[in-house]
Amino acid sequence: MQKKAFLILLMSLMMSSCANMGHFKYIMKPEVVIKNELTNQSYEVSQKYKFKVATVESLSEKRPEITVQVDELFTQYSSCMDVTDNGDAIRKFLIVVVNSTFVCNYHFGMCNGEYDPENNLIIVSYKAFKRRGTLPLLKHEWAHAYGSLAADHSNMDSVVQCIKY
Ligand SMILES: [Zn+2]
Repeated sequence: MQKKAFLILLMSLMMSSCANMGHFKYIMKPEVVIKNELTNQSYEVSQKYKFKVATVESLSEKRPEITVQVDELFTQYSSCMDVTDNGDAIRKFLIVVVNSTFVCNYHFGMCNGEYDPENNLIIVSYKAFKRRGTLPLLKHEWAHAYGSLAADHSNMDSVVQCIKY
Protein backbone atom coordinates (compact mmCIF):
# COMPACT_ATOMS: atom_id res chain seq x y z
CA MET A 1 0.00 0.00 0.00
CA GLN A 2 2.78 2.35 0.92
CA LYS A 3 4.64 1.42 -2.21
CA LYS A 4 1.62 2.24 -4.36
CA ALA A 5 1.21 5.63 -2.72
CA PHE A 6 4.85 6.38 -3.31
CA LEU A 7 4.54 5.34 -6.92
CA ILE A 8 1.55 7.63 -7.41
CA LEU A 9 3.42 10.51 -5.82
CA LEU A 10 6.43 9.86 -7.99
CA MET A 11 4.28 9.66 -11.12
CA SER A 12 2.52 12.89 -10.37
CA LEU A 13 5.80 14.66 -9.68
CA MET A 14 7.17 13.47 -12.99
CA MET A 15 4.06 14.54 -14.80
CA SER A 16 4.04 17.98 -13.27
CA SER A 17 7.68 18.58 -14.06
CA CYS A 18 7.05 17.52 -17.65
CA ALA A 19 4.23 20.02 -17.85
CA ASN A 20 6.51 22.71 -16.48
CA MET A 21 9.13 21.88 -19.02
CA GLY A 22 6.64 22.25 -21.82
CA HIS A 23 5.54 25.61 -20.48
CA PHE A 24 9.11 26.73 -20.01
CA LYS A 25 10.03 25.78 -23.54
CA TYR A 26 7.02 27.60 -24.89
CA ILE A 27 7.92 30.84 -23.11
CA MET A 28 11.58 30.65 -23.93
CA LYS A 29 11.27 29.82 -27.60
CA PRO A 30 12.93 32.93 -29.02
CA GLU A 31 11.72 34.79 -32.09
CA VAL A 32 14.03 34.58 -35.08
CA VAL A 33 14.98 37.99 -36.46
CA ILE A 34 16.63 38.48 -39.82
CA LYS A 35 18.66 41.67 -39.76
CA ASN A 36 18.64 42.25 -43.51
CA GLU A 37 14.88 42.27 -43.44
CA LEU A 38 14.81 44.59 -40.44
CA THR A 39 17.16 47.20 -41.89
CA ASN A 40 15.16 47.49 -45.11
CA GLN A 41 11.86 48.01 -43.35
CA SER A 42 9.73 51.10 -43.53
CA TYR A 43 9.77 53.10 -40.34
CA GLU A 44 8.00 55.92 -38.59
CA VAL A 45 9.75 59.00 -37.30
CA SER A 46 8.91 59.89 -33.73
CA GLN A 47 7.48 63.32 -33.19
CA LYS A 48 9.66 64.70 -30.43
CA TYR A 49 13.15 63.30 -31.05
CA LYS A 50 12.78 62.23 -34.71
CA PHE A 51 13.86 58.68 -33.95
CA LYS A 52 13.34 56.02 -36.60
CA VAL A 53 11.00 53.36 -35.25
CA ALA A 54 10.00 50.15 -37.04
CA THR A 55 8.16 47.09 -35.82
CA VAL A 56 7.61 43.57 -37.02
CA GLU A 57 4.43 43.17 -39.04
CA SER A 58 2.45 41.63 -36.18
CA LEU A 59 2.92 44.82 -34.13
CA SER A 60 1.94 47.19 -36.94
CA GLU A 61 -1.32 48.19 -35.25
CA LYS A 62 0.59 49.22 -32.16
CA ARG A 63 3.21 51.17 -34.14
CA PRO A 64 1.80 54.66 -33.43
CA GLU A 65 1.62 54.11 -29.66
CA ILE A 66 5.04 52.44 -29.62
CA THR A 67 6.53 55.46 -31.40
CA VAL A 68 5.01 57.79 -28.79
CA GLN A 69 6.34 55.58 -26.01
CA VAL A 70 9.85 55.67 -27.46
CA ASP A 71 9.83 59.47 -27.13
CA GLU A 72 8.48 59.28 -23.58
CA LEU A 73 11.15 56.77 -22.59
CA PHE A 74 13.87 58.94 -24.04
CA THR A 75 12.66 61.97 -22.10
CA GLN A 76 12.93 59.88 -18.93
CA TYR A 77 16.28 58.48 -19.99
CA SER A 78 17.89 61.81 -20.78
CA SER A 79 16.72 63.52 -17.61
CA CYS A 80 17.88 60.62 -15.45
CA MET A 81 21.23 60.20 -17.25
CA ASP A 82 21.84 63.95 -17.78
CA VAL A 83 21.92 63.50 -21.54
CA THR A 84 21.75 66.90 -23.23
CA ASP A 85 22.11 66.09 -26.96
CA ASN A 86 18.36 65.80 -27.48
CA GLY A 87 18.80 62.34 -28.97
CA ASP A 88 21.49 63.19 -31.55
CA ALA A 89 23.43 60.01 -30.81
CA ILE A 90 20.36 57.85 -31.38
CA ARG A 91 18.86 59.37 -34.52
CA LYS A 92 21.10 57.38 -36.90
CA PHE A 93 19.83 54.10 -35.44
CA LEU A 94 16.80 52.24 -36.65
CA ILE A 95 14.93 51.10 -33.55
CA VAL A 96 13.16 47.84 -34.40
CA VAL A 97 10.57 46.43 -32.05
CA VAL A 98 9.91 42.69 -32.17
CA ASN A 99 7.31 40.75 -30.19
CA SER A 100 9.36 39.11 -27.49
CA THR A 101 12.64 37.39 -26.68
CA PHE A 102 14.59 36.90 -29.90
CA VAL A 103 17.57 34.94 -31.18
CA CYS A 104 20.91 36.73 -30.91
CA ASN A 105 24.61 35.99 -30.52
CA TYR A 106 24.81 36.79 -26.80
CA HIS A 107 23.22 35.70 -23.54
CA PHE A 108 23.04 32.02 -24.57
CA GLY A 109 21.43 33.02 -27.84
CA MET A 110 18.40 34.77 -26.37
CA CYS A 111 18.02 38.56 -26.13
CA ASN A 112 15.42 41.15 -25.29
CA GLY A 113 17.56 43.91 -26.64
CA GLU A 114 20.53 44.23 -28.95
CA TYR A 115 22.72 47.21 -29.71
CA ASP A 116 24.29 46.74 -33.14
CA PRO A 117 26.34 49.80 -34.13
CA GLU A 118 27.71 48.06 -37.23
CA ASN A 119 24.23 48.01 -38.76
CA ASN A 120 22.97 51.17 -37.00
CA LEU A 121 20.38 48.96 -35.42
CA ILE A 122 18.78 48.70 -32.01
CA ILE A 123 16.46 45.72 -31.61
CA VAL A 124 14.20 45.44 -28.58
CA SER A 125 11.32 43.22 -27.62
CA TYR A 126 7.92 44.74 -27.01
CA LYS A 127 7.36 42.52 -24.02
CA ALA A 128 9.98 40.44 -22.31
CA PHE A 129 9.77 37.40 -20.08
CA LYS A 130 9.97 38.44 -16.41
CA ARG A 131 10.41 42.13 -17.29
CA ARG A 132 7.75 44.66 -16.42
CA GLY A 133 6.05 46.93 -18.94
CA THR A 134 6.67 47.37 -22.63
CA LEU A 135 10.01 48.06 -24.33
CA PRO A 136 11.73 47.09 -21.07
CA LEU A 137 15.24 46.95 -22.54
CA LEU A 138 15.24 50.09 -24.68
CA LYS A 139 16.92 52.32 -22.08
CA HIS A 140 19.51 49.60 -21.57
CA GLU A 141 20.42 49.68 -25.27
CA TRP A 142 20.54 53.49 -25.28
CA ALA A 143 22.99 53.29 -22.39
CA HIS A 144 25.21 51.12 -24.61
CA ALA A 145 24.84 53.61 -27.46
CA TYR A 146 25.92 56.52 -25.23
CA GLY A 147 28.82 54.49 -23.84
CA SER A 148 27.39 54.83 -20.33
CA LEU A 149 27.03 51.06 -20.02
CA ALA A 150 30.03 48.87 -20.79
CA ALA A 151 29.52 46.06 -23.31
CA ASP A 152 30.28 43.51 -20.60
CA HIS A 153 27.85 45.21 -18.15
CA SER A 154 30.65 45.55 -15.58
CA ASN A 155 29.41 49.03 -14.58
CA MET A 156 25.73 48.07 -14.46
CA ASP A 157 25.51 49.33 -10.86
CA SER A 158 26.19 52.90 -11.91
CA VAL A 159 23.32 53.07 -14.39
CA VAL A 160 20.75 50.56 -13.14
CA GLN A 161 18.72 53.27 -11.37
CA CYS A 162 18.02 54.94 -14.71
CA ILE A 163 17.65 51.93 -16.96
CA LYS A 164 16.09 49.42 -14.56
CA TYR A 165 17.27 46.31 -16.46
ZN1 LIG B 1 23.53 45.02 -22.65
